[in-house]
This record gives sequence, structure tokens and C-alpha cells, in this order.
Amino acid sequence: MHNLIFFGPPGSGKGTQALRVAEKFRFIHLSTGDVFRREIAVRSPLGMKVKDVIDRGELVPDSLLIELIGDFILKYQTAQGFVFDGFPRTLPQAEALDSILKVHRSEVTCALLLEVKEEELIRRLVNRAREEGRSDDTEEVIEKRLVLYHQHTKPLTDYYTSSGKLEVVHGIGDIEDIFRNLCKTINKRIKAEFR
Ligand code: AMP
Repeated sequence: MHNLIFFGPPGSGKGTQALRVAEKFRFIHLSTGDVFRREIAVRSPLGMKVKDVIDRGELVPDSLLIELIGDFILKYQTAQGFVFDGFPRTLPQAEALDSILKVHRSEVTCALLLEVKEEELIRRLVNRAREEGRSDDTEEVIEKRLVLYHQHTKPLTDYYTSSGKLEVVHGIGDIEDIFRNLCKTINKRIKAEFR
């Protein structure tokens, strides 16, 4: 089982690229943000629990994410691989993912960080707000999400550097070029796992 993690600030393009990578490698794509948006749309108990937190641009509690991911991996345990998109976002989530994967005799293949400058992120997020009308893409909420990214998610860079799993991929420019770079990086890591 290969486990790819996509992380990066909101607006880094991780969602678009994670989906394409999952299709190409035939791995199962899990966007925790999409799961929550779907649950909110059907007004499920989980959706109602997380709606306000998401609308404010805050992070959903770790315990909820860890349970969700544990159940998901169990459900698809025969899959060839997973693409985790937007998870983990905090250190406790990253540690929990390692423990869950260990139970399944697996580990993180690599953590892909899409690097994009702050001005470019804000420009993209403001555009997305106009085009998609996401309730968490208002200016105030965008700012909050970026601050929380720096506080809680950016430190994962150190976590995955120390375990030798971090791969930083340049996230500005042609979408196809970024995709090619990502695939090259992932292929190298997958080959190394077979050695
Ligand atoms: P995303 O689509 O990945 O930007 O996620 C949208 C929102 O869902 C985030 O701003 C958080 O409120 C929530 N969310 C998604 N994934 C996580 C996570 N791993 N930890 C905490 N909150 C999350």
C-alpha cells in the first residue's frame, strides 16, 4: 500500500493535483475538506457538528479527523494506495496516521508540499471565492486559514523532513508541468519502496 500525502497552504492547488495523481496511479483519493462539505450539504450529524468551525475557517478537532481516517483506511484496506488531500493538518494527526498505517503494516510513502508564495495564494483564493462561492473563501476567513496553516500545518515540514519523507514541489506555473514534476517525484519514491 502506497500512501501519498498532499499538503500545502489553502490555494496551493493541492486539491486539483491530488485528484489527478490519484487517477493516474489508481489510488484512492481522500479529501477531508470534500468529505465535510458533502456531510454539510446533506445536513448529516457530522456535517452539522463541523459546519460552524469550517465556516469560521478553523480546524475541525483532531479526534474527529483521526476517527474518520481510521474508518476510511479500514474500509479500503485492500487498495493499492491512498492520496490524502488536506490530511494530516496538525502534528497529532500526522502521528495518528503513522500509527494507523503501522497497524496495516504500511507507512507514509512521501509527503508532498506544494510551495506557492503568499501573494499568489491570496490572489488565487480571492478568485476561487468569486468563481465557486465557497462559504469559507471570504477575505477574513482566508486570512484565518492562512494563519492556522502557518501555526499548525507548516510544522509538518519538520516532522516529515526528520523521517525523510518530505518532497517539496514548486506549485506555481503551468498545471501540467507541476503535475509532471509531482509524478516524477512520486515514481522515484515508489520505486525506492520496492528496493
Ligand atoms: P480544505 O478543502 O482541505 O481546504 O478543507 C476545508 C476545511 O475543512 C478546512 O478549512 C477545515 O476547517 C476542515 N478540514 C479539512 N481537513 C481538515 C483536517 N485534516 N484537520 C482539521 N480540519 C480540516
